[in-house]
Amino acid sequence: DCEAPPSSGEFEDDNVGYFMKKLCLLNFLFVKLHVWCRQPKGKWELGTIQSTSGEEASVSLSNGNVMKVARSDILPANPDILEAVEDLIQLSYLNEPSVLHNLQSRYSQDMIYSKAGPILIALNPFKDVQIYGNDYISAYRQKLMDSPHVYAMADAAYNEMMEDEVNQSIIISGESGSGKTETAKIAMQYLAALGGGCSGIENEILQTNFILEAFGNAKTSRNDNSSRFGKLIEIHFSAMGKICGAKIQTFLLEKSRVVQLALGERSYHIFYQLCAGSSSELKERLNLRMASEYKYLNQSEYLTIDGVDDAKKFHGLMEALDVIRMCKEDQELVFKMLAAILWLGNISFQVNDNENHIEVVNDEAVTNAALLMGCSSQELMEALSTHKIQAGKDTITKTLTLRQAIDARDALAKFIYASLFDWLVDQVNKSLEVGKRRTGRSISILDIYGFESFQNNSFEQFCINYANERLQQHFNRHLFKLEQEDYELDGIDWTKVEFEDNQGCLDLFEKKPLGLFSLLDEESNFPRATGLTLANKLKQHLHTNPCFKGERGRAFSVCHYAGEVLYETTCFLEKNRDPLPSGSIQLLSSCSCELLQLFSKTLNQSTKQSNSLYGGALDSQKQSVGTKFKGQLFKLMHQLESTTPHFIRCIKPNTKHLSRIYDEDLVLQQLKSCGVLEVVRISRAGYPTRMTHQEFSRRYGFLLSEANASQDPLSISVAVLQQFNIPPEMYQVGFTKLYLRTGQIGALEDKRKHLL
Ligand code: ADP
Ligand code: MG
Repeated sequence: DCEAPPSSGEFEDDNVGYFMKKLCLLNFLFVKLHVWCRQPKGKWELGTIQSTSGEEASVSLSNGNVMKVARSDILPANPDILEAVEDLIQLSYLNEPSVLHNLQSRYSQDMIYSKAGPILIALNPFKDVQIYGNDYISAYRQKLMDSPHVYAMADAAYNEMMEDEVNQSIIISGESGSGKTETAKIAMQYLAALGGGCSGIENEILQTNFILEAFGNAKTSRNDNSSRFGKLIEIHFSAMGKICGAKIQTFLLEKSRVVQLALGERSYHIFYQLCAGSSSELKERLNLRMASEYKYLNQSEYLTIDGVDDAKKFHGLMEALDVIRMCKEDQELVFKMLAAILWLGNISFQVNDNENHIEVVNDEAVTNAALLMGCSSQELMEALSTHKIQAGKDTITKTLTLRQAIDARDALAKFIYASLFDWLVDQVNKSLEVGKRRTGRSISILDIYGFESFQNNSFEQFCINYANERLQQHFNRHLFKLEQEDYELDGIDWTKVEFEDNQGCLDLFEKKPLGLFSLLDEESNFPRATGLTLANKLKQHLHTNPCFKGERGRAFSVCHYAGEVLYETTCFLEKNRDPLPSGSIQLLSSCSCELLQLFSKTLNQSTKQSNSLYGGALDSQKQSVGTKFKGQLFKLMHQLESTTPHFIRCIKPNTKHLSRIYDEDLVLQQLKSCGVLEVVRISRAGYPTRMTHQEFSRRYGFLLSEANASQDPLSISVAVLQQFNIPPEMYQVGFTKLYLRTGQIGALEDKRKHLL
C-alpha cells in the first residue's frame, strides 16, 4: 500500500501534496514522472522515475543510467510544453533547477532575454547577437515582435510615459561585466530612435557615452570596459514625445584607481588614449610621453587591451567633445590636467639620513607637473613635503614623513581627477540642457553596480551593497504594489500573499546615532582611531542587531538580502575621510590654471578652510564619503519613487567572457543576489498562474466527466477545479481570471496529456 507522504517541508515547491501523491502511486500507475534529481556533486540532472520504495526512488537519467536517489534530492520537473518559456513565472514548478534549466535552454538558442514576471533578465551573450538595429526597433515599435527584449521594455516605458503622463525609470543592475552598460546603451538607442527629431539632440546623448566611458571606465579583471561609477541618465521628452534634453548624474567614482592598480588592471582609459592618440604638437605642449613612462600607469603590466585601439578611441573622444560643443581651449585644459596627474605620479621623494626628513626630488616630473598646473616647482614641492600649523601668530612648518608625502601626492592627483570628472559631467549636462519648456515627461536609466561579495570586502563594497539594499527595497515595494493592484482589481483577497522587507538591514546602515554610517563618521573624527577601534565600536553598539555580526579582529558581517558579507575595516576610516591636506588646498587656489582654481573654489564651498593635520581627523565641516553617498542615494531614491520603474537584471553566464558557456553555479548565485529568485519566491507565495475564464475552460473543459449544462466559461472552469479536487487554498476565482498557485497548472497539464 501507499505510505504516508513525507512532510511537505522537505520540498521546495508548493504543490507537494499532488506531487507526493503521484510519487506514491507510481508503483501502480504507469506514469513516467519527470523529475530533477540532485547528483552527488550537487548538480541537478533531469530524469524519469522508474519506481519508488521507501525513501528512495529509481530514476533513469537522460544518459541511460539508472540510479537510486533519496526523495529529498528529487524535485518535480516541468512538463515539456513549458520548455524554454519566455516568462519564468509560466513555469509550473519554480524550483531552482527548473529556473536554471529554462534560462539555459533559451541561452543556448541565443534567446538572451527572458522575463520573471515584471523583470527582464538579460544574459550576457559575449558575442554579437543579431537582434538589434533599426529593423528590430521598428518591429518592436509596431508590435510585430513581442518576445522579451530591452526594446520591448523601453517601448513599454515610452508608451506608459506618453499615455499616463508619468515619469518612468529603467533600473539596470547586475555584477561587473554582466552587461549593464551595454544594456543601458541599447535602451538609449531605442529611445533615441523613437524620440529623435531634427534637433539632433538624440545623437548628442548617445555621444556622451564616449566621454563618460573614456573618463569613467577602465580595464579590470572582470571586464575590459568596466564602469567605475554609477550613472543615472534622465531623458526628457516633449509633449509630442520627442527628446528635448537630458541630464546625467553620477555616483561614487572610484578615485583610488588613478594612483593604484590591482594586478592585471588598467587606470582610466583616457590616460592611455591621450598618450597614444594625441598629435605631436599637443604632446609637445603637454610634455607628454608614452604611457609606459608614467608610474601611475606602468605599475601594471597592462598598457593596452586586446582588440582596442586607444589612439582611435582618442579621436572618437575628441569628436564627442566637439559634439557637446566643448571649445578647443577647454579641451586642451582637460588634457593638461590629465598630463599634470601623470607627472604628479612620477614625483619621488628622498629620505635624508637624519631621521625621517624627506625631500622632493627636484626632477622633470616636478617641473612638468608645476608647469601644467600653473604654479612654481618650489610651491609644489613645499605642498607635498611640509605641513604648516598655525600656533597663535606663528606658523610652524613640519616636514611630512615619507608615507604622508606619498599620500599627499596621491590625494592631490585623485582630487584633480575626480574634480575633472565632475566638471566634465557638468559640461555634458549644460550641452544637453532641457529646453525652457519643461514637460515633466522623462525616462531615467540607472546603470549602477550590483551587489558585491568578494574574498576581501572593503569600504567600496560596503557602499555599493548599501545602495543595492535600497534598490532592493524599492523593487520589493514596487512588486508588492503591482501584485496587490492586480489582485484587488480582480477582486482577489491578497492578504494571503506575504512579502519580505529589508527595512531591518537598511536601519542597520542608516539609524542615527547608532547605525553603521553614523558610527563610522563618529570614529572618523578621532585622529587616533584605527580599523580595530572601529570594529570594536560597531560590535559594542550593534551586536544585538540581527542583521549585524561581529567577527574576529577588524572584521564584521552584514546579513544582506542577497547573502552575508564580511567586511574588513582596515581602510574604512581613510576612505571615509578622503582627506586633502590643507597645503594642497592652498596650492590649488594659487595655481594659475583656471580649472584648478575652479576646483578649489568648489571644494571651499563645501568645506570651510581646514587646518587639520594630514591623515588626522575628519574635518567637522567636511562631509564624509559615506555620508555624502548616503545623501546622494536618498536623493536618487526620492527621484525614482516618483517614477514607474522597469527592472532589468543582467547576468554573466561565465567569468571567461566566452559565448555559449553557461556556468550554473555562477548564474544561480546571481539570480539570488539580484533578487530574481526572490521574485520567483514571491510569485510562488502568490498565485503565479493567471488565466482568463475563457482560456481555462477552453483548455481543460473537455476533461469534465459529465458534460456541463452551462456553456459559461466560469462555471466550466469551476467544475474542472472541483472534479480534480484542486484544494480551495490552491486557487482563487477573480472577476476575469482564475488565479492558481504554483504547480496546479502542471497537474492539470499532466491529466490533459494523459487523455489526449
Ligand atoms: P557592466 O556594465 O555590467 O560591467 P558591460 O555592459 O560593460 O558590463 O558589458 C561587458 C561586456 O560584455 C561588453 O564589453 C561586451 O563585450 C559584452 N556584452 C554585454 N552585453 C552585450 C550584448 N547585449 N551583446 C553583445 N555583447 C555584450
Ligand atoms: Mg558598466
